[in-house]
Amino acid sequence: MKFHLLTYGCQMNVYDSDSMADLLFERGMSPAASLEDADLVLVNTCAVRESAQDRIWGVLGNLLTWKKRRPGRILGVTGCMAQNEGQALVERADYVDLVLGPDGITRLPELLDEVAAGRRGLVDVTPESTPPEDSLWHAPLAAPQPPRYPRFVSVQKGCNEKCTFCIVPSVRGFERYRPIPHVLDEVKMLIEHGYREVTLIGQTVNAYQYGDADFAELLYRVAEVPGLARLRFTTSHPRWITPRLVSAMAEIPILCEQIHLPMQSGSDRVLRRMKRRYQAEEYFQLVDALRRATADKPEPLAVSCDLIVGFPGETEEDFQRTLEAVERAQWDSAFTFMYSPRPGTAALRLGEPVPRPVAHERLLRLNDRVKAVGTALNRQLLGRTLEILVDDVNEEKGVLCGRSRSMKTVHAPIPEGRRAAVGELGEVAIDFAAAHHLKGRVVQAELCAARGD
Ligand code: SF4
Repeated sequence: MKFHLLTYGCQMNVYDSDSMADLLFERGMSPAASLEDADLVLVNTCAVRESAQDRIWGVLGNLLTWKKRRPGRILGVTGCMAQNEGQALVERADYVDLVLGPDGITRLPELLDEVAAGRRGLVDVTPESTPPEDSLWHAPLAAPQPPRYPRFVSVQKGCNEKCTFCIVPSVRGFERYRPIPHVLDEVKMLIEHGYREVTLIGQTVNAYQYGDADFAELLYRVAEVPGLARLRFTTSHPRWITPRLVSAMAEIPILCEQIHLPMQSGSDRVLRRMKRRYQAEEYFQLVDALRRATADKPEPLAVSCDLIVGFPGETEEDFQRTLEAVERAQWDSAFTFMYSPRPGTAALRLGEPVPRPVAHERLLRLNDRVKAVGTALNRQLLGRTLEILVDDVNEEKGVLCGRSRSMKTVHAPIPEGRRAAVGELGEVAIDFAAAHHLKGRVVQAELCAARGD
């Protein structure tokens, strides 16, 4: 049987898709070369924005045609929209065979057996308050597929924050933390399978706690795993950037110079209405502290963020504070969004969203500002030599692509008569910089092994 996974949304979903793929691998299934080649399609969904959900309904409509083309094909929906809609999903799309919430992933193989035995429209969205002993968080994972980056390791699920615009706490539940020994087991297992870089993930990953251990302690412990060359984490909440975490960023050599630190708005008034529980100036001071602490590391710290425009009640003056924040924080990049009202969130009671054309125009202005700052920061890297970890190789075109320690996308020609492979480390001299990528030439690398070695 061949499977195809369609993944939407955040890195938590990417991790869940990787986990499902690992489980299917273990059951003897293999990835389909294309959708048409697949016997099983799993759509791993996102419900954070209304537009994401609308898009997935469209995808499901197209998959009805896919299903009809060959009898016996199986269609499953997983992720946040599956959790949110539950039974309503199969009522609206009765051709969906399986609806599975994020906490039920370990049950995927047995549920697929039930579908194969003739049961249809199965719904399993039971939330997990404490991860059971047999969950993926406790059992070692199946042998993973060939190395593919980024490779995520989940350390925290759910969220205890109550941001008024966000549906995540109601879909993913309260925070649960994965025991340190199990995190270490998974990292060791990945290294045995050839991985050299992992990214620890959680919705508010730096709020992690395990017994007396905080997130900084987890980082120190993971960094000791032999064979690990690079360590990252995401997504951080400004409230949990502790002095210990700032020190860890400075002291752990393999911890990369990169942090994703959502700010959401530059206006204190809007931040209050969003219940973010920090002020703009506090955010800036955290970024300054992180930059100072990492000043001696190989690359300048890259900071990225999430920003929302058009939140209910956002005035032009509030928006100006967000534009100013781009200059002040010097973000390398930002994920910018128009506010999307979500069912069950407190922001619905805060009044009407900013009219769409106004919000759209603000989004365009914000994107211009973010791009200008990001481009200027990338240009500062011209002439420098950056270490990259190769994550894509196109032998036909003779080019490779990798990520620097600060998560910059770097393209370079594969040196003449050489070969390259995903997961190799190399050094690239940068001679071109744009807003979203850099280019250069390989100056020293494992990937310089002679062809045929
Ligand atoms: S921190 Fe706020 S925005 Fe992030 S997942 Fe939690 S509630 Fe949502």
